[in-house]
Amino acid sequence: MTPVIGLEIHVRLKTKTKMFCESLNDSAEHHPNINICPVCAGHPGVLPTINKKAVEHVLRVGFALGSEIAEISKFDRKNYFYPDLPKGYQISQYDKPFCLGGVLIIGGRKVRIRRVHLEEDAGKLMHSENGNFSLVDLNRAGTPLMELVTEPDIRSAKEAKIFCEELQIIFRYLDISNADMEKGEMRCEANISLADEDGKFGTKVEVKNLNSFKSVEHAIEYEIERQKTVLNSGQVVVHETRGWDENGKETFSQRSKEEAHDYRYFPDPDLPILEVSKLFDLDKLKLSIPELPLEKRSRFMNQYALFQSEAEILIKDRSLAEFFENVASELESWIEDNKEESSGKENNNLIKLAVNYILSDLMSLVHETNNTIKEILITPENFSELIILIHKNKISSAGAKIVLKEMFLTGADPSNIVEAKNLLQVSDAGQLEKIVREIIDGNPKVMADYKAGKENALQFFIGQGMKQTKGQANPSVLQELFKKILDKI
Ligand code: ADP
Ligand code: MG
Repeated sequence: MTPVIGLEIHVRLKTKTKMFCESLNDSAEHHPNINICPVCAGHPGVLPTINKKAVEHVLRVGFALGSEIAEISKFDRKNYFYPDLPKGYQISQYDKPFCLGGVLIIGGRKVRIRRVHLEEDAGKLMHSENGNFSLVDLNRAGTPLMELVTEPDIRSAKEAKIFCEELQIIFRYLDISNADMEKGEMRCEANISLADEDGKFGTKVEVKNLNSFKSVEHAIEYEIERQKTVLNSGQVVVHETRGWDENGKETFSQRSKEEAHDYRYFPDPDLPILEVSKLFDLDKLKLSIPELPLEKRSRFMNQYALFQSEAEILIKDRSLAEFFENVASELESWIEDNKEESSGKENNNLIKLAVNYILSDLMSLVHETNNTIKEILITPENFSELIILIHKNKISSAGAKIVLKEMFLTGADPSNIVEAKNLLQVSDAGQLEKIVREIIDGNPKVMADYKAGKENALQFFIGQGMKQTKGQANPSVLQELFKKILDKI
């Protein structure tokens, strides 16, 4: 039995105002019912107007996924009653969505997109603990919500999770939404069934309330196992909607499809039918699509000889990828200018060194301070200068940490920091030889230990050398030097 999975993904779009009115679309609002007006509060007699930016966002998603962009599109009313929906209907799109078709490749497998459409979100209800009353907050009512529906092409829980993660990166690249699942900016519903040996799809179950990538994966895993058990015991899977219980880690029945709503969709008479190519400069929108994660990932691996795991982290955040590429191009021009000294191999080594410093030291500074790479004071020029200082052994790795931290805090130039803090590493054996001889002469017992083959005698000597030079000696040069001199004695 093969799992068959199709996803429905809702994304709260980043716009200044709501979908059909002038109220602010602010996901960080702290007070209930502050960003509302007669339109999104559903007063009678008001007229909605279409937020063009929200439509533009959806069209750009269509271009990114290779969808067919509709010539003609329209909005429809989806009728149902619930207190978080003040009008008694949701403005959505029924048979003329903005984008049809498309594809997203996940781990080499194609997942076809069925459609991408635009609708408005509902408000939020807060239920009192004793269940006696509920409070309505309409801040979210009428905010632009994009819905993306896939064909049932996904074959495992893991693949569904990766699909959602990849979409999130794309939405962020396109800057249409933060798509943070924990904040409800991206919500996922999974349709799951099991196909029989002949590939015939079984009855599907829809699982709701998936608010993190982990729950997408766990809920689908659970549901696959549950359906297997049902079928293996000779029973049939019931066509129903199930919820995901994050604490109990199980799905539970919410409603059977027999109770399914009849939404009585009909075209919203208050909104015009849209001739998309007349309203938008589609060529310009298409050109605004940046390089997408799939291409960037493989380009980074080819162009900079990165491991997949390294490329993966770098491409996840578009500004981090950009920072890295600017550093790499600085390093490449340095290599070009210093051609005699360097070889092609060195080229890769320098970039590797930069990647390591970005992914470990720099990223931990960024995370510690809750910053994003976008906000950091370090310029790519200065960062590449630091990498060259390390590469040329001008500073030790301990020194590099100090310099990087200072760069991070002040944005200062690494050479200036090295000078001000006296961090220049001494790699010149000639300069160190005198100190090395003094240390050996001053510690005859340790020397005897060394001669007797005791490993840590050498470590002691190197430690002394570092101490005498206040950490400025290059430890590997020291080690060589001690060995050379000791072995001659
Ligand atoms: P409904 O009419 O019940 O909403 P749709 O055909 O519109 O069903 O599909 C909704 C979602 O369910 C889509 O993402 C689709 O890919 C997925 N889907 C459809 N059939 C199956 C199936 N047999 N197993 C799993 N997912 C399915
Ligand atoms: Mg549906």
